[in-house]
Amino acid sequence: MSKTRTEINTLGEFGLIEHLNQNNTLFHEHSLTRKAIGDDAAVLQKTEQESWLVSTDLFIEGIHFDLAYAPLKNIGYKAVTINLSDIAAMNAIPSQITVSIAVSNRFSVEALEELYEGIKTACKQYQIDLIGGDTTASQAGLIISITAMGVANNDKISYRNGAKANDIICVSGDLGGAYMGLQVLIREKEVWLANPQMQPQLTDFQYIVGRQLKPEPRTDIIKELAKNNIVPTSMIDISDGLASEMMHICQQSNVGALIVGDRIPIHEKTYETALSMQINPLTAALNGGEDYELLFTIAQKDYAALENHPNITPIGYITTPEKGIYLQTPQDTTVPIQAQGWNHFQK
Ligand code: ADP
Ligand code: MG
Repeated sequence: MSKTRTEINTLGEFGLIEHLNQNNTLFHEHSLTRKAIGDDAAVLQKTEQESWLVSTDLFIEGIHFDLAYAPLKNIGYKAVTINLSDIAAMNAIPSQITVSIAVSNRFSVEALEELYEGIKTACKQYQIDLIGGDTTASQAGLIISITAMGVANNDKISYRNGAKANDIICVSGDLGGAYMGLQVLIREKEVWLANPQMQPQLTDFQYIVGRQLKPEPRTDIIKELAKNNIVPTSMIDISDGLASEMMHICQQSNVGALIVGDRIPIHEKTYETALSMQINPLTAALNGGEDYELLFTIAQKDYAALENHPNITPIGYITTPEKGIYLQTPQDTTVPIQAQGWNHFQK
């Protein structure tokens, strides 16, 4: 019997996850599994009032980081913080991680100490207990797998599926910086490969390079929301780009959205660098990934408390599903938002 071969890139990352898990009833055996696949973290009931949140991410050399421009300390730090961000994206504070690594003998003990210095710095910064993991050999490169956990009140957890028409769409921080930082790092690596005597010119790009190499989970925003007694109606962290994350919220909540391009927060350094590299800054914000900011929706009644907040920007509002997902451009036309996001399987 001949079996046809389907290339992974015909499905893409999200299509592949859906395909492999379709028709799977395995996830509903335990009543304590409140939420399985489909959000930033799984939700496991702990008590009547509280649940555990669990999320895991792989961080792979040559796919997610390049040792030519990322110091090992940063790699360790980022491997932790991107996982903490997924717990924050449930409107919760992370508390523990496990760390598993596979390393080739290309790495010395000193190199791994450096990696761990970054891991420990992140744990200290965010008061995280490192509670276990696994260590094994790898034939090629460095693989880091981290699982993050946290506990939250059941009625404070924000899912991707709770957005309602007329809710206000907000983002934390600014967007597109991590993507532009990556473009600068790639450019400097190419210059260096062509001429190893050349020193990388990064001082002018500290902010955006920092956004790429050292992302921070926005647990500060989670605390601010709690202080104001606000539970977002939906929330997701921005790992693949605003457009892709907005689509996840809209699909899962069965709503549409209108994002006002002019309102999307873009740091001036991101803006300048994008223009100098002939990249539309708005495209960097919409489709660049890895900012690890939070995208969330709030009920209109909650808006007053967040108005003028320096780190939270309203960028649009939720509409009904038949309205689709649209961007109001600075020229005042509306265009459908297309999620490019990252597709590691693309050739
Ligand atoms: P995030 O970008 O927030 O880390 P992902 O896009 O990686 O989220 O994953 C989306 C959802 O799919 C999550 O609930 C995740 O646990 C689940 N998922 C990803 N890969 C797999 C897999 N191989 N098997 C089962 N579930 C998966
Ligand atoms: Mg996420």
